[in-house]
Formats: sequence, structure tokens, C-alpha cells
Amino acid sequence: MLEHERVAIAVGERSELPVIVAVHSTALGQAVGGCRLWRYRDWREGLEDALRLSEAMTLKCALAGLPLGGGKSVIALGPDSELTAERRRAAMLDLGDAVDAFGGSYGVGEDVGTTAEDMLVARERTRYAYCLPESQGGSGEPSEPTAVGVRAAIGVTLERVSGTSDVAGRRISIIGLGQVGSRVARRLAADGAELLVSDIDHSKRRLADELGATWTDPETALSAEVDLVVPAALGGILTPASVATLRCAAIAGPANNQLADDSVADDLHDRGILWAPDFVVNAGGVIYGSAMEFEGASREDAVARVGAIAGSLDAVFSAARQHAIPPLAAARRVAGERLTAAGRRSLERGRM
Ligand code: NAD
Repeated sequence: MLEHERVAIAVGERSELPVIVAVHSTALGQAVGGCRLWRYRDWREGLEDALRLSEAMTLKCALAGLPLGGGKSVIALGPDSELTAERRRAAMLDLGDAVDAFGGSYGVGEDVGTTAEDMLVARERTRYAYCLPESQGGSGEPSEPTAVGVRAAIGVTLERVSGTSDVAGRRISIIGLGQVGSRVARRLAADGAELLVSDIDHSKRRLADELGATWTDPETALSAEVDLVVPAALGGILTPASVATLRCAAIAGPANNQLADDSVADDLHDRGILWAPDFVVNAGGVIYGSAMEFEGASREDAVARVGAIAGSLDAVFSAARQHAIPPLAAARRVAGERLTAAGRRSLERGRM
């Protein structure tokens, strides 16, 4: 059964690339989600990504307490498609048209493979393109607010496994020292955590030295005996095989789609490892962006709103404990309750 409200697939008239827009839910408000410009085996694989990621956006927005729904778009490059600067511009204009056809029920932003400058091009065709460059009045780079949210989530997660959110003297391992991971590492080091850090990019070792952290390889960082692991690289890191090697008490990090599949949430639960759902932990960027772009909040106010992640994650952990279910199932349950309540409210408004 198609659970999405509306999905559109068309070949862009200028770029001749498949442009896919998936709106999963507008129950809470305008569906938002970035546009992924990525190479796929074929457009069907891109469609699968759009369907899965738009559903994740519904969960992310509902759990972040935002009046927004979930959507996503994909421009699917084939294995051999060439992407010149001219074709990229054409693809963004095609994206703008595809988004505009949704009449405002979907708003697009940047995602993997797209930039704030790309959104400026899409803006030529629709006013529902967001995340514009700061110089154009947009919210700009979201890594800092994302890192603020991750830091808050780490405190809540540690509190659940050890009774205190204080990170001083706690052993924490970080996998991936990119935009978000490096910022989280700096914050944790400043708060006195004992850090084990890793990245496939060896130049990141300089940051480890600067922070007085221990440098290791990603596999060792994942299976180390630590209080908490922070996945901050790519998705799919938690598989049945990797979970069997874990020696941490908890996991909380920004990497999207950490679980290879949903059953891994049960494996973690069975092993007594507390997993903070990634779509709750990494909502800082969307909370910040929506506060600035939809509500005109100042940068400081928008960053302060990210602190709401602590309450959302706490609610998920409480529901997990109450119903003796893994946090993934609890997160779906809490989001489902919010969506059902919104549906009821809109039905009631319709009756008036
Ligand atoms: P980034 O590309 O800046 O950093 C990723 C880092 O991980 C890089 O330093 C890279 O070398 C390293 N890396 C890649 N593969 C690795 C591996 N196998 N083992 C160890 N390190 C590896 O990305 P980012 O913006 O910091 O985002 C990190 C994660 O958080 C991504 O999954 C992203 O989707 C997610 N996320 C980011 C934001 C944001 O605001 N940037 C928001 C939500 C979610």
C-alpha cells in the first residue's frame, strides 16, 4: 500500500534527468525535506530513496515538535550521466518546476549532493525553495545547530544509562570528524570527556591531537569499551554483525540511517544497548532552519530552539521504558500519536 500522500516522477524538460518528489505527510503542516542529487543504478532506486527518506522526514518533524510534514526529492543521475555546470543549473530549474507543481504542500532544501546555491537556482522557478545562502537571507550551513542538538542528545542518553548527563571523565568514541562530528568532539572535549576518535581521512588526526583525544581506526572506535558511541559518518554502520561486537552502553549520533534495517533496533535492545534514534538526535538543522526561514527567528533564538531535542528524546526513552519496546518503536509510536492527534484536530475543524 502506498503510504505517501503524493509522489511525482517526471523527466526534467531542460536537464532530461528524472526528477522525483515524494510527499509522505502534510498532517502537521507543509512537507519539508532536501533534494538529493545522487548517482543511482536507475530511477527506481532513486524513487525508493525518496519514499524512504520522505517518511523519515515525517518522523523527524513530528518528533521535533515542528508544525511541518515530511517530503523529499531526488534528481537521479544514471551510472554514466554527465553533470556539467549547465546541466546542473537545468536540473535545479526542473526541480523548481516540480516543487512548484505541489502548490506549497512541499518545500525543498539542500541535501546530499545539493547546495544552498542550487536552491537559489530552484528559487527562480518556485518560492518553495529554502535553505538559501546566508548572503541571500537564508539560514545557511546547518552543521552547527545539528551539533548543538547532538550534544544535548548525548547528555539525555548518558543520563538514562548512568543517572547523570555529565560527560566529564566519561569515555566516548566518535566515528567521523566531519562538519558535525568535529564540532561535537570540540564540545565534548571542552566538557571533560575522554575521547576516542576516528575517520577514514587521516588528516583529521590533527584535530584529535589538538583535543588531546586518542586516535584510532573506525572499526576499533565502534567496538571500543566506552560509555557511548557517536556515529557521525555515513549510514548503515549498525548491522547484526557489528552490533555483536559492541561493548558500549549507548549510541547517540547524527549519522542518518544508522541501522542497516529495523531489526537491528531489536538486536541492540536485546543486548541492553540504548540507541537514540538518529532522526531525533539530528533534527537540529531542520529545527533551526524552520525557525529562521518560516518564523523569522534570530540566529540565537533559532539555535536555542534546538535544545527541544532533549525533551523529545526523553519522551521517546520514557515511552520505550513504559512499553518495554526498543527506542525505534517508541519513536514511531510517539510520532504516530502526534500525527493522529493532528488528523483528529483537522477533522474537527472540518466539522465546524
Ligand atoms: P561530512 O561529510 O562533513 O563528514 C563525514 C565524515 O565522516 C568525513 O570526515 C569522512 O571522512 C568521514 N567518514 C566517511 N566514511 C567513514 C567511515 N567509514 N568511517 C569513519 N569516518 C568516515 O558530513 P556531516 O555533515 O558531518 O554529516 C555527518 C552525518 O550526519 C551524515 O550521515 C549526515 O547525513 C548526518 N547529518 C548531518 C547534518 C548536518 O547538519 N550536516 C544534519 C543531519 C544529519
